[in-house]
Amino acid sequence: MCSNFVKMNASFLDTPIGYLKGIGPQRAEVLQKELFIFTYKDLITHYPFRYVDRTHFHSVREVIEDSAYYQLRGHIIEIDFVGDKRTKRLVAKFRDSSGVIELVWFQGAKWMAEKLKSNSEYIVYGKATAFMGRFNMAHPEIDVVTPELLVNQSSFQSVYHSTEKLKYRNLDSDGIRKCLRLLTIQLNEQNIQESLTHSIIQDFNLLTKLEALKQIHFPDSKMLLEKARFRLKFEELFYVQLKLLRSNLVRHQMIQGFVFNKVGDAFNDFYNKYLPFQLTNAQKRVVKEIRVDMGSGKQMSRLVQGDVGSGKTLVALLSMLLAIDNGFQACLMAPTEILAKQHFATISELLEPMGLKVALLTGSSKTKARRELHADLQSGVIHILIGTHALIEDVVVFKNLGLVVIDEQHRFGVAQRGKMHKKNTQPPHVLIMTATPIPRTLAMTLYGDLDTSVIDELPPGRKPITTMHFMESQRLRLIGFMKQEIALGRQVYIVYPLIQESEKMDYQNLQNGYDALLDDFPVPQFQISIVHGKLKPAEKEFEMQRFIKKETQIMVATTVIEVGVNIPNASVMVIESAERFGLSQLHQLRGRVGRGADKSYCILMTSYKLGADSKLRMETMVRTNDGFEISEVDLRLRGPGDLDGTQQSGVLDLKIADLAQDGQILQLARSSAQAILNEDPNLASQENQLLLNQLQFQGKTRSSWSKIG
Ligand code: ADP
Ligand code: MG
Repeated sequence: MCSNFVKMNASFLDTPIGYLKGIGPQRAEVLQKELFIFTYKDLITHYPFRYVDRTHFHSVREVIEDSAYYQLRGHIIEIDFVGDKRTKRLVAKFRDSSGVIELVWFQGAKWMAEKLKSNSEYIVYGKATAFMGRFNMAHPEIDVVTPELLVNQSSFQSVYHSTEKLKYRNLDSDGIRKCLRLLTIQLNEQNIQESLTHSIIQDFNLLTKLEALKQIHFPDSKMLLEKARFRLKFEELFYVQLKLLRSNLVRHQMIQGFVFNKVGDAFNDFYNKYLPFQLTNAQKRVVKEIRVDMGSGKQMSRLVQGDVGSGKTLVALLSMLLAIDNGFQACLMAPTEILAKQHFATISELLEPMGLKVALLTGSSKTKARRELHADLQSGVIHILIGTHALIEDVVVFKNLGLVVIDEQHRFGVAQRGKMHKKNTQPPHVLIMTATPIPRTLAMTLYGDLDTSVIDELPPGRKPITTMHFMESQRLRLIGFMKQEIALGRQVYIVYPLIQESEKMDYQNLQNGYDALLDDFPVPQFQISIVHGKLKPAEKEFEMQRFIKKETQIMVATTVIEVGVNIPNASVMVIESAERFGLSQLHQLRGRVGRGADKSYCILMTSYKLGADSKLRMETMVRTNDGFEISEVDLRLRGPGDLDGTQQSGVLDLKIADLAQDGQILQLARSSAQAILNEDPNLASQENQLLLNQLQFQGKTRSSWSKIG
């Protein structure tokens, strides 16, 4: 029965938009091109982005803000055509008891001139524009005051996104609202099937789908508008969560995993003899969670979140040792060559005394070395392989791969992870490490089908990094400060932005900055390394090594050092044009210092003129070192779509819910989905058929991480 209904409602909502009265082929085409509105359903879900109160009137004297919208009530006292042929326009003087404002029409002026009458009372609604010290309104909405009009005025009139091309076809916000009016009156119980179960609707006291769709576009009251919004946001988030939680469940039930039930010599020897420090409690807890997971017989897909410097590498290493103890190989993928090398250096040094073989594979590995490596990998001589994307290639064949660790995960695409799953007869365990924390709501949505662990503690003895924000005028002070730190034997990073679009300018800035430094820090007293993307790998390596060996005191670089570089003696991070970096990037860069015993500093250099967003970013950095807190601000500033790694994920094409604001609704939706699955994991009950249908119906395009294998 249900599926019939779904089909029925699909057929109405799937009606091509051109069939709606007044739209026709031309407007349909623009709607498709500009807003991707192809069907009734697309139009219905083109939700308003705000509402205006049309029951309130301003007086002309109250029009004081440029670009603000005002609704006025009064009379036309004078109509005139002004300007020459090219600039010809209609100007109507509009007066209420407080003053006069000009209404202007450039298009349709003649028609308007005939329509406007000087004895009628009008309601005018539009955007005020300041011009030569006065305000006018171009192309306002204008209606003769009638008793019906006043009664029908809505205190919440919907406003829709539109585009220039649509406006040209009379599909500005008002035009779109008119179409929606025509469509919403056609909605009824037959063509809009309820899409949540009766129990959910009752539990959360929700509007029906039908009512919600009507109220979201044409609200009868503030309360109903809020309820409509809640209902639609809830539903949207509910299905995302239901789908994610269900794939997690399916994975737990279905996908067999290698059983790592032994804790053997590799793990124990390392832990007891070679571990250079005590694990933090958070590290211990997470290692335990991973151990339980990998011993369960199910394939592990676990996300480890932890702030910069919280010691994720060590957790990865211990997990890899568990794989080795159980007769498997492990690999660790990093997003950049520098980071892969860094991991290789750290890990091979740590494992050196234990006789385990660690190998490195990157894009610049030589053919001969590669051949040897491939052979050693296949024969099982190599225990741990560390590398970049090169690991994914089909020619890289393992004898028995049991665990894949993906560090700084956000730079890998879903497809790339999928390829790693195919590197053994059944999918290896997967451990994903984030570079910086991500907001809770985003984690729940992006990684909602993974199990997660959080390392919420930094190793002991870390001194908080002091962050300062300097303007250009404080550059002398900066140089003095750098000299002072260098005199204490410390080292300094200076990072320049490098954005692809302005690459040439950026390199120029880097070069200029470097040249200026040479004046302030003359040889032979000072030595400066420079590392950027235009250097050959060997040159980069040479410069890095000079810095690591303390032969140079300053390292000038682009963001290639962003991830992973670990040089404890470097205690000052200077970020040039800091306003051009996103918050998570700034935080990640700052995390390059504060790794040794010395007090560390991060200095954000910016120009004087900062936008509100940039200011907030700088203030946030100066105020806190907490990556989780920073990620929340980042989400609020940029919205989820612009955060690293979210673009390729289908789960974020939300139509109405907003992960930056709807955290509470998300939490409710997730708990509700979880409760339903706890009771009915296969959604087999009569009532839950509806949910299953909806999942299949709407989930087709959404990508899920656990489906990769
Ligand atoms: P991230 O989580 O950013 O990847 P790393 O794994 O690179 O952090 O660790 C940062 C630094 O902290 C490294 O120098 C590492 O050796 C050190 N470290 C890790 N765990 C501990 C610990 N439990 N006690 C002391 N230092 C630690
Ligand atoms: Mg790391």
